[in-house]
Amino acid sequence: IDFGFETVRTEDKQGRVKQVFDSVARDYDRMNDAMSVGLHRVWKDMAITTLNPQPGERLLDVAGGTGDIARRFIKAADTVRDRRGGETASAVILDINDEMLLAGIDPKKDAGLSLSRVCANAQILPFEDAQFDVVTIAYGIRNVTDRLAALREFHRVLKPGGRLGVLEFSTPPEPLIRKFYDAYSFAVIPRLGQAIAGDRDSYQYLVESIRKFPKQAQFVALIEEAGFAKVGWTDYSAGVTAFHTGWKI
Ligand code: SAM
Repeated sequence: IDFGFETVRTEDKQGRVKQVFDSVARDYDRMNDAMSVGLHRVWKDMAITTLNPQPGERLLDVAGGTGDIARRFIKAADTVRDRRGGETASAVILDINDEMLLAGIDPKKDAGLSLSRVCANAQILPFEDAQFDVVTIAYGIRNVTDRLAALREFHRVLKPGGRLGVLEFSTPPEPLIRKFYDAYSFAVIPRLGQAIAGDRDSYQYLVESIRKFPKQAQFVALIEEAGFAKVGWTDYSAGVTAFHTGWKI
């Protein structure tokens, strides 16, 4: 490839590109661990347990980033399949950011898993109606501009009987815990962002966007407005995170 200044062999360029993406993914994963003191892994595991993935199911993981939820989902379904038989589960990881999708490609972690990746906006899903058994979105709905439009799209692409799982930072209902949590997030997270990712402002924005996100019960109302039934939620870690679920009936 000729870049004008120097000629770089394709394999060198690919190596460099991969290096850049690896560092994006590494920063992202390290930041997640640092901010949540590793708890985001536990919250994701708890959410998957609640969803109870079954052999042969097809998952759409919206705002799927590097693919944490999708891999967990398939592995959980495969554990059931190993006991009871059936087809392997599959997942589509959808994200608006192609760099996140590329950064998430990991031949070791992806080996043996039926995964595909799609770059698209949660508000306009590039799928026919009734294609998926489960739709998840973890730490993504907060960033979506028109949340109701996205939730309606999740409902549209689910099969009847399909289920929705939304994992998102939320508001601890207990005032004393909320006070400590606010102090931690405003004082610590922007500094961590600076130290780990060299980016204080984005993490300041993150903290503010969490505060502005609807409280648990308000978010239930929005999910219901999009057409879901039997909507409810479970608070994780005293409500620092909430997992909302609903059904398409
Ligand atoms: N779900 C992953 C996880 O829990 O590790 C990634 C969460 S990350 C905080 C948020 C992701 O949402 C980013 O990868 C971002 O690109 C994606 N995103 C933001 N807005 C989106 C939209 N409108 N449609 C699809 N993806 C979006």
